[in-house]
Amino acid sequence: MNAQPCSTPCLAIVVPCYNESEIFPLCLTELGERLRAMADSRLIGPESYLLFVDDGSWDDTWAQISAASTQYAHVRGLKLSCNKGHQAALLSGLAHADGADIIVSIDADLQDDTSAIEKMVRAYLAGHDVVYGVRASRQTDTAFKRLTAETFYRLMKAMGVRQVFNHADFRLLSRRARDALMEYRERNIYIRGLIPLIGFPSAEVHYDRKERTAGVSKYPLHKMIALALEGITSMTVTPLRLITLAGFCISIISVLAIIAVLINKIAGNPIQGWASVIVAIFFIGGIQMLSLGIIGEYIGKIYLETKQRPRSHIEEKEGFAERTPIPTR
Ligand code: UDP
Ligand code: MG
Repeated sequence: MNAQPCSTPCLAIVVPCYNESEIFPLCLTELGERLRAMADSRLIGPESYLLFVDDGSWDDTWAQISAASTQYAHVRGLKLSCNKGHQAALLSGLAHADGADIIVSIDADLQDDTSAIEKMVRAYLAGHDVVYGVRASRQTDTAFKRLTAETFYRLMKAMGVRQVFNHADFRLLSRRARDALMEYRERNIYIRGLIPLIGFPSAEVHYDRKERTAGVSKYPLHKMIALALEGITSMTVTPLRLITLAGFCISIISVLAIIAVLINKIAGNPIQGWASVIVAIFFIGGIQMLSLGIIGEYIGKIYLETKQRPRSHIEEKEGFAERTPIPTR
């Protein structure tokens, strides 16, 4: 059970936004209504707020966030200096959720069911520090997205990485869980892999994932591959061990092949053939290149980590000065 759940906690909902101007007004309204309803029923404190993080958008997302934070007391905005990616934007939002006892992170596109937030808060009040939003059904995702996601989750599991199946970054964190996450100092971060490492009591809330209400996915294939590689290289060294295993197996096969060649030669019928030699060279060459690539990924990661560069820079902050409570009805 979490140390002492606040009875009416201050909730911050952190929303990373990258070129989400089409969906922003809907997102603002829907999340604002959820916040108000929960504050009205005294489930959360009246000082709860929405924190939109603009991840270097080039459309007018920031102009809208900025206007909303001037207009509404329960809206805050954070503008990153350039596009740093979903994970960095989310982390920046978590780091700047001042005064919040609990923080829910959610995507701007309203694919995740916002009614699950209330269930998450209730799970927190029941004593859980981490509440995972789990997609019970993802029929609205394309077959390609479902297949690649499923393959990735299975691969991670096979490599011994603890990860909640069908959970992305829709979750609630208590303040102490957030603080624990902030202690992970790595530059290139894969948040959903780190949360289970934190420990603390956790629960799951299941929901049906919806269609993107407007705009297009900001996760094209290359960003999905980058995130998957980030996840694998930051959570496990199993691929390096597989190289060792492959090298070991190939060495044994080679020794057996050498013995077979020698026996045939001594017996007076040497194995002929150019094809077998070329196939063997290509095979070993392929394995070596692949192994070098995998090792290179890890070395590249070490190189980037040693620089300890900042994950993002804040260009502007809006709505942080005063903390006017949400007007209750
Ligand atoms: N996002 C971001 N920076 C990026 C890419 C995405 O902040 O470089 C945000 C985006 O605005 C959205 C969330 O991350 O709020 C998830 O992106 P999206 O919904 O496009 O991903 P999908 O659901 O297609 O995987
Ligand atoms: Mg989405």
